[in-house]
Amino acid sequence: MNNEKSLIAKTDLKTLSKQELESLVRDSGLPSFRTRQLLHWIYEKRVQSVGEITEFSKELRDDLSKKTYIGNLTLIRKQTSVDGTEKFLYGLEDNEATESVLISDNSRLTLCISSQVGCAMKCSFCLTGKMNLRRNLKAHEIVDQVIAVGRLIEPQRITNIVFMGMGEPLANFDEVVESLRRMTALLKISKRRITLSTCGIAPKIPELGGAGIPRVNLAVSLNATTDEVRDSIMPVNRKHPLASLLSACRHFPLEPRRRITFEYVLLEGMNDTDMDADRLVQMLRGIPCKVNLIPFNPYKGSKFRRPTDGVLARFQNILLDGNITALLRKSKGPDILAACGQLKAGYC
Ligand code: SF4
Repeated sequence: MNNEKSLIAKTDLKTLSKQELESLVRDSGLPSFRTRQLLHWIYEKRVQSVGEITEFSKELRDDLSKKTYIGNLTLIRKQTSVDGTEKFLYGLEDNEATESVLISDNSRLTLCISSQVGCAMKCSFCLTGKMNLRRNLKAHEIVDQVIAVGRLIEPQRITNIVFMGMGEPLANFDEVVESLRRMTALLKISKRRITLSTCGIAPKIPELGGAGIPRVNLAVSLNATTDEVRDSIMPVNRKHPLASLLSACRHFPLEPRRRITFEYVLLEGMNDTDMDADRLVQMLRGIPCKVNLIPFNPYKGSKFRRPTDGVLARFQNILLDGNITALLRKSKGPDILAACGQLKAGYC
């Protein structure tokens, strides 16, 4: 644990928004340029304590350390898959834990981050859904996954961020939006390299496209072509059925040349028929999009199975024939439970 925070009343500088940090600097009687310096050292140099900010005099560091500290996630465990995928288990200040997954793909290093501890959405093919929701992550806890993994892999750099770890990002809307602001403005990650994935909280999708929110890429976890099947595997569909979800997608203000990604986890005998593929083509007509087909990653005790390669290829070909861009994705890290829908932070 951080030595600098032994006094209860100390403020973790990472919990503050840029405006709040400006206020703290002003209230401490410091000139305004100190805010810029603090942001630079915390978010770009990724220092872990006020004492490391060597641009400040020893006196200023000592002064700041009396009332503030820089909080850090605690690495509990790191696992590496045979395919090179790395999974990080991080401890939070209240002894909860969260997971992030680093996936290497050619020149890309994509970090899959969590937005909640557990998840309330209960998608039946997902191990995280079996944990239930323990709590939302705060904006700084979301951003800190990027900072912490970034430090560990130096001099390599994370190139892309996906919100596809534990949790439903749109169910933690305000903190996730604040984390997007910090990632783009403070960590200087391009919004085009950030993707937020939702299971389909339809009313929040247009909100995500609202003014003042970094216009990141949108991915929607679709996984069915009828309400009947989607109701049975994704309870969120009972509240926000397919028609309202697709309508929300049609109204999402996409930037020029951007597309929505629809994720489709293929479950044998459940959503993998030719009719499903035909319906998918019809449903997505008119939406600038691509489809990621993800063969189900079985885990111990799961009731679903992965379709055969022949079924996967046929499903993909029907989409391609319907002029839908469809990519067959190979999930990374299944041997360390790091693949899609397998994160559980050691809770279950
Ligand atoms: S798939 Fe996503 S939204 Fe569904 S239970 Fe898992 S983490 Fe939650």
